[in-house]
Amino acid sequence: MTPVLGPQIGVPVTPAASVRVPPEEGELRYQRCVACETANFVATDVCRGCSSRSLQWAASSGRGSVYSWTVVHRPAARELGSPYAVAIVDLDEGYRMLTNLVEVEPGEIHSGMRVRVDLRPAGEERVLPFFTPDRG
Ligand SMILES: [Zn+2]
Repeated sequence: MTPVLGPQIGVPVTPAASVRVPPEEGELRYQRCVACETANFVATDVCRGCSSRSLQWAASSGRGSVYSWTVVHRPAARELGSPYAVAIVDLDEGYRMLTNLVEVEPGEIHSGMRVRVDLRPAGEERVLPFFTPDRG
């Protein structure tokens, strides 16, 4: 039987990679440029589309599709465990993020697969945005 993928354990959490809100209030956010409407992620001081500093935070639907992925069977460090899936997800709002896929069998993953965010606690003040298949 193929294992169901879980999150990487023991990965250092950087502020840029996390959503700094209590998990019970968590939502995935990105920045939308007021000048050109480009969606910016990760957070930035200057729009990647037009260099404007006029950026507003917006709540993401947390839904998107898998652009690309790989399943890691030999992790760089033993404490990471395996297997796990690293993926690039295109969010419906027009930005792309690097993440992990969880609660899915490796053979089920495919390009274009619909996914939704699965916010999981990483300490007391942070959650990390993983993605799981959007089955409905
Ligand atoms: Zn812009």
